[in-house]
Amino acid sequence: MAKIGINIATGSLQQAEMIVGIDLGTTNSLVAIIHPESKVPVALKEFNSSSLVPSVVHFDGFGNPEVGEAAKQYLETDPANTIFSAKRLMGKSYRDVKEHADLFTYKVIDDDTESLVKVQVGDKFYSPIDLSSFILKELKERAEHILKTPVNKAVITVPAYFNDAQRQATRDAGKLAGLDVLRIINEPTAASLAYGLGINKYEEKTIAVYDLGGGTFDISILKIANGIFEVLSTNGDTYLGGDDLDRAIVQHWIKKVGIDHNGLKINKILAQSLRLKAEEAKKYLSDHTVFQAELNGDQLSLSRDEFNSLIQPLIDRTIDCCKKAMTDAGLQTNDIDTVVMVGGSTRVPAVKEAVSTFFGKPVNDEVNPDEVVALGAAVQADILAGNNTDFLLLDITPLSLGIETMGGLMDVLIPRNSKIPSRVGRQYTTHKDGQSGMRISVYQGERDLVKDNRKLAEFNLTGIPGMPAGLPKVEVQFLIDADGILVVKAKELRSGVEQSIEVKPQYGLTDQEVEQMLLDSITHAKDDMVTRALVEARTEGEQILGVTEKFIAKNPDLMTKEEMLATANAMQALQLALTMEDKNLIQSKIEELNEITRPFAERAMDQAVGAALKGKTL
Ligand code: ADP
Ligand code: MG
Repeated sequence: MAKIGINIATGSLQQAEMIVGIDLGTTNSLVAIIHPESKVPVALKEFNSSSLVPSVVHFDGFGNPEVGEAAKQYLETDPANTIFSAKRLMGKSYRDVKEHADLFTYKVIDDDTESLVKVQVGDKFYSPIDLSSFILKELKERAEHILKTPVNKAVITVPAYFNDAQRQATRDAGKLAGLDVLRIINEPTAASLAYGLGINKYEEKTIAVYDLGGGTFDISILKIANGIFEVLSTNGDTYLGGDDLDRAIVQHWIKKVGIDHNGLKINKILAQSLRLKAEEAKKYLSDHTVFQAELNGDQLSLSRDEFNSLIQPLIDRTIDCCKKAMTDAGLQTNDIDTVVMVGGSTRVPAVKEAVSTFFGKPVNDEVNPDEVVALGAAVQADILAGNNTDFLLLDITPLSLGIETMGGLMDVLIPRNSKIPSRVGRQYTTHKDGQSGMRISVYQGERDLVKDNRKLAEFNLTGIPGMPAGLPKVEVQFLIDADGILVVKAKELRSGVEQSIEVKPQYGLTDQEVEQMLLDSITHAKDDMVTRALVEARTEGEQILGVTEKFIAKNPDLMTKEEMLATANAMQALQLALTMEDKNLIQSKIEELNEITRPFAERAMDQAVGAALKGKTL
């Protein structure tokens, strides 16, 4: 029986199952819904308070977590028990974050640098998933309190650069908070939805989404056509945001006022107060030209012009990312129809100006930049609830995905910047007679050799019935679902044996690492091509030697003595060439051997041998 809820606040009837949109931010988080009557997205807030819930968790003396504004107050007085920016740790190992370890005023466990990070508070350990779940639980309870109805289903947004591990971690945090996470969507996609872009099915637009939040920067280039959203490219910096603007101000004051730098290191409370004053100044300067305050008897002042020159280098870094995103998308700035501003830090006038100048047009900032992502998540929730079927969402993969083939080569099944969801299948065959198993190793990256890429998973397809080499047909399928989670399946088509694996990598890549991997692939492109050609030549040579040997053993009387001798010589020459680093030599020896064996091979080529000569082998 369907349950009908009555919203006590509005006195209206509503669906029993409310699906909410959640922006789980590094700095601030919030919940939004599509208003059941007006059908417009609204951020949920208690009367007379902000919709933003600071993404801060404070633990009291008994280890009870407290989230939001109440917790934020302890940033100054109880830094060791007050966790902020937990999102930065999602799906990360200590090794991934150690470079930025000084940002954390709480204890991040560093004894095992490889496994997922934990945070220590008192004698308890918390994973970033636990910490995020506390925030999500607070949001869920808040929504239930405001809506007076149970909230069990949500759409949660993540940065476009989040990889499988980070998306999965976000999902798990939702589950821990008692939420059924129906979809994980990219923040820029959500922001565009909030702007209602793409509602008109005949509209075609190219959009740049510039998102400068508290701790991260993302630029995404989207294309909307026929009601379909497609992400053409993404770029960004996970360690660039409003916090850096605050730090620039702090540094300025330390120099100008002569605050003791070492003293601040010891006096964490004073350091935090200074940080909060800096943030206050920054926000104030978004609407005024001069800020003035006093802290501990020191006069702190800052003009908008001073502030602008302090932050110019940071703004320039975001514009560099924009340039890269445009290059990746293969577009010129005048191809962009709309520029959308997201994140609290885009309220800084100098930021707006720089972005507007770069793209050569005014920016869109009508929708509250703190709320726009959550509002878009609510739009997506509404689509999933079946209330709005006009949309279909597409995203892209940041790095290529493939498997290892003979000689350690990377065989790409899903190229970088492919649309997701997506599904690709390719056939492979065996290398040895009677081979009953095949190892499928899944890699991510742009290099030609798998050893230079990142291994995501590995499994064995076993139980292939005994067949000559080259006869089995193993279809490997890659499926990326709408959340960006990869499932790899392998099936031997003749016998039907199959095996699959869901890829949840142990820990993720930062966008700097993704960028580095891309850069490496460009730097090494030439070497890689040479290596690939050599490996391919060697593999082919080895296969041909194997096949020829087998042929001779099977059909000794098909050949004359002379043919036999010539073949043996050519085989020996090829064998020798295989030990050398010369692809051309190997190829010419393969050709020579082929010349000699062609006449009798033609005489008796059987199907299996033919397949082995042609098919790719694993
Ligand atoms: P996140 O997505 O990282 O959770 P938000 O989009 O909520 O972050 O942005 C938070 C950042 O926005 C903080 O650094 C905050 O100081 C900054 N911010 C908020 N309001 C203003 C303002 N009026 N002027 C400048 N910066 C602002
Ligand atoms: Mg954000």
